[in-house]
Amino acid sequence: MPLASEVDVAIIGAGAAGLGAARALEHSGLSLIVVEARDRVGGRGHTIMAAPDVTFDVGCGWLHSADRNSFVQIAGRLNFEIDKTRPPWREQGFDAAFPPKERLDFIDALDAFYDRAEEAARSGRDSPASACLEPGNRWNPMINAISTYVNGSELDRVSISDMDAYEDTNINWRVRRGYGALMAAYGAPCSVALKTQVTLIDHSGPRVRIETSRGTLSAAKAIVTVPTNLIADESIRFHPKLPAKVDAARGLPLGLADKVTLALDQPESLPKDGNLRGATMRTAMGGYHLRPFGQPCIEGFFGGRFARELEDAGDGALAAQAIDEIVALLGSDYRRRQKPLAESRWALDPFARGSYSHALPGHAGDRAVLAAPVDGRLFFAGEATSPNFFSTAHGARDSGERAALEVVASDAKR
Ligand SMILES: Cc1cc2nc3c(=O)[nH]c(=O)nc-3n(C[C@H](O)[C@H](O)[C@H](O)COP(=O)(O)OP(=O)(O)OC[C@H]3O[C@@H](n4cnc5c(N)ncnc54)[C@H](O)[C@@H]3O)c2cc1C
Repeated sequence: MPLASEVDVAIIGAGAAGLGAARALEHSGLSLIVVEARDRVGGRGHTIMAAPDVTFDVGCGWLHSADRNSFVQIAGRLNFEIDKTRPPWREQGFDAAFPPKERLDFIDALDAFYDRAEEAARSGRDSPASACLEPGNRWNPMINAISTYVNGSELDRVSISDMDAYEDTNINWRVRRGYGALMAAYGAPCSVALKTQVTLIDHSGPRVRIETSRGTLSAAKAIVTVPTNLIADESIRFHPKLPAKVDAARGLPLGLADKVTLALDQPESLPKDGNLRGATMRTAMGGYHLRPFGQPCIEGFFGGRFARELEDAGDGALAAQAIDEIVALLGSDYRRRQKPLAESRWALDPFARGSYSHALPGHAGDRAVLAAPVDGRLFFAGEATSPNFFSTAHGARDSGERAALEVVASDAKR
């Protein structure tokens, strides 16, 4: 769509937050445009058909805290089937190199770690979550691996207070046709200017002047929803500068999680929705979802510094690592039976530069700083601004709705 020259509200970014804001304002009587750098909506929610029979969510896949997840109702309204199969994360297919007794021992150690973290958070003094590891515990590397999946980062860079603020109801569902596909359908009614990158938000005058790769736009108000790393490194700039926002974004960096999907020959020999951990005694390893939804594929998941190393190693490195780990667990026959289909590289993605936010130790309060409006004209949303569902797609969407309500309230005050 062409870039309008004047609107009441410009929304920067068409991810879950931007679309949530736009949908919440659709009957407000305000004129709107969503300005999006990519050639598609959804941002970190993106579903592709990796093969004719393999749907692959390159970004978000799980409806976390599904009993409180606003996308569940939206899926119902849009006729997207929800799969309520329990996630297999605590299992290990064929007990491969991880027998049940060892698994129970690990789960006890993990639960004890979370108990210690909860207690530490109650003290009110923040510190790195790694301080809650029991010195010398043999499961520490693997607890750290879980953190790389959950936080996108090792525990030494994760705030205990922030980790504790996250509300996990332990109910996780999936969207059969893909979470990204659901987001795209949810955003379909919105007016979105695609392939339009915002470079500067000038709020020095009576109206907000937004410089983009396709010209300048004037808006009464703007809602900014871009990922924190882009605010932190000022690839999107403000005039006058907003140092408090840049500092808050720096306290909430995006950790890294990457995914790969591998086509599987003779899929019946593996359990539907099974799980494999690539290793047990180290942090640098993949987690594998066997035949998600019964599809003929295996999905691999890597996080933290190891994911970064694999991205840096170039195209195909995630797939190669996944195949090696699965072969080591299930046998050499699997080298021939797996074929790379698609993989993500979220750190190298110029409009994400990472996967989801975590607070650095001492920075849990930055979420509220980032979320706060400026002068009743600039509003901030995005997963990193969510007080309790940060790092998730529904947290992002809800934050967009929150920012939309702030816009309406600020309008009523004038
Ligand atoms: C591998 C991976 C797995 C994940 N798994 C899950 C999961 O299972 N469940 C879950 O709930 N969440 C998951 N997430 C996180 C979830 O995807 C995000 O938290 C959520 O989608 C973020 O939405 P957002 O609107 O805040 O940001 P984004 O989706 O990043 O949207 C911001 C938008 O702004 C655009 N933009 C950036 N810069 C500019 C600019 N200068 N001008 C214009 N537009 C710009 C971007 O292109 C993007 O579309 C996962 C993420 C990844 C990467």
